[in-house]
Amino acid sequence: MGVLDNRLPDNVFFAMADDFVNWSRKNSLWYLLFATACCGIELMHTGGPRFDLDRFGSVFRASPRQSDLMIVAGTITYKMADPVRRLYEQMPEPKWVISMGSCANSGCPFNPHTYSVVKGVDRIIPVDVYIPGCPPPPEALIEGIMKLQRKIEASKVFRK
Ligand code: SF4
Repeated sequence: MGVLDNRLPDNVFFAMADDFVNWSRKNSLWYLLFATACCGIELMHTGGPRFDLDRFGSVFRASPRQSDLMIVAGTITYKMADPVRRLYEQMPEPKWVISMGSCANSGCPFNPHTYSVVKGVDRIIPVDVYIPGCPPPPEALIEGIMKLQRKIEASKVFRK
């Protein structure tokens, strides 16, 4: 540190602004729970005391205005497509989306047998992380959130 050697108390740290902002963002992912079917039960289970998503700083919000992460868990029908997009647009920037389960990822197992199911929520809104499974267990959702945290960690805020 050169000229600052021995002049600062032990509890003073230096960090790049990008690292500090990304650290704050990745550890405070407040999620809008968009659960439409059975995957939603696994999502709620993950938020409960057994798997305790809160320890990642991820807490459930009922309003898109307070959310920076949308977790889409379940089947999205064409009738639901417009509300999904509208809620996404109401979330403030920066915002991220996790697609949880085969239905949200690709419309499977209803794809291609049902006319009413959207073949993947990424046809409506951008998706950052896909979690496979029917349904994915809580461990898979936690892994997906950690993947998103690594993505946020690598993003550039001030440095372009
Ligand atoms: S992926 Fe499977 S468990 Fe999840 S909502 Fe679809 S049918 Fe249900």
